[in-house]
Amino acid sequence: MRKSNIQVHVRIRPHKPSDGPWREDSLSLPSNRTIVAISEKGRAFTYPLSHCHDTDSTQSSVFEHVEPLLDKVLEGTNATAFCYGVTGSGKTHTMQGTDSDPGIIPRAVQALFDRVEELDDRTTVISFSFVEILKDEVYDLQDASNGSGNSGNRRWSNSGPKAEQRRKLDLRTDGKGNNTVANMQTTVVSSPEEFRDLYNIAAATRKVASTNLNHGSSRSHAILTLYVHMEWEDGSTQQSKICLTDLAGSENNNLTGNDAERMRESSAINKSLSTLKTVVDAINTNASRIPYRDCKLTRILQDALGGTAAGLLICCLAPGNKFTKDTINTLTFASKAS
Ligand code: ADP
Ligand code: MG
Repeated sequence: MRKSNIQVHVRIRPHKPSDGPWREDSLSLPSNRTIVAISEKGRAFTYPLSHCHDTDSTQSSVFEHVEPLLDKVLEGTNATAFCYGVTGSGKTHTMQGTDSDPGIIPRAVQALFDRVEELDDRTTVISFSFVEILKDEVYDLQDASNGSGNSGNRRWSNSGPKAEQRRKLDLRTDGKGNNTVANMQTTVVSSPEEFRDLYNIAAATRKVASTNLNHGSSRSHAILTLYVHMEWEDGSTQQSKICLTDLAGSENNNLTGNDAERMRESSAINKSLSTLKTVVDAINTNASRIPYRDCKLTRILQDALGGTAAGLLICCLAPGNKFTKDTINTLTFASKAS
C-alpha cells in the first residue's frame, strides 16, 4: 500500500448480547492490514488499511499507535487523531474511555506530562481547548461548563444545555490562511489530574440527542486539542498541538426515525463527514487542492491535518448482523480515505 500521511485504522469492538445475532465470519482479518466484510447479499469485500485492531485489542494496544503522533508533537509538529463510526461502534470508548479503562485522551495527556518531565533544558506549558460542532456551529464546551449565557446553573445536567442557549463561536482566517476559533477558551493544566477534572465537567455538556439506535447518541463532533508550548533559556520557543476528535455518528439517518430537527443535524453531519473523507483522500493522494474550507470541522483541523502534520483515523466497527450495512459504509469510507 502506498505511504500515506494519514494512517487509516479499523477497530472492531467486542460483541455484546444487545447487538443481537452475529455471523462471526462476516468480518475477518486475513492480516493486520486487511479486512474482509461480507455484505447483506453475501458478497465479500476486501479492504486494505494501515492497521486493523481486532475485538481483543486493548486501550493500551491502540494507544501504541498514537505514541508516534505524540513524538511528533514534542518535536514541534501538529497532529490529529479521530474516531469515525456509527453510534455504538466504540468511538467514545476509544477516544475517551472510562475511569477504569481510559482511552486515547487521558493516555495522551498522561504521556505528554510524563515525557515533558524528562525535558529539563526547557520550560513546557500544556494547555487544552475543547469545542463541539453541532449543525455546523462551534460551541466552547469549557464556556458551557461555566454556565455562561443561561440561568445561573453552574453545572449542566448530563444532556447539556440547549445549543441555542450557548454562545456560538466564529471562525477567523488570518493573513497566513490559518483558521482560529475566536474567543475559544484555552486552559493551562499542571497535572493529568487537573486536566481530568476540567475535562469531565466540559464533557458533560456535550449535546446528546436520543435516536432509535441508542438513547443518547452523539450528534456533534467533539474536538479536544492539547497544546504544548516550550521555551528555552535563550528565548527560543516551540508551539505545537494535537487534535483528538470524537466524530458524530455516521449512521444512515433513514434508520433512526429522525424528526425535522434531527434531520437538520443529520444533513450537517453527512456534509462534514463527506468533506472530511474528501480532505483525507486529497491529502493521501497529494492532490493539489484540499477542500478544507468546505465545512467548519475541516477548517478547525486544517493546520493539524495534512502538510507536515501526522494523522490517524480510527474507523470503529460494531459486530452484529444489524450493523452489516453500516460496516460496509464505514469500510468504504476508510478505504476511500486510505
Ligand atoms: P460510540 O461513541 O461510537 O457511540 P461507545 O464508545 O459509546 O460508542 O461504545 C458503545 C458501547 O460499547 C459502550 O457501552 C462501550 O462501553 C462499549 N464498547 C465500545 N468499544 C469497546 C471495547 N473496545 N471494549 C469493550 N467495550 C466497548
Ligand atoms: Mg460516543
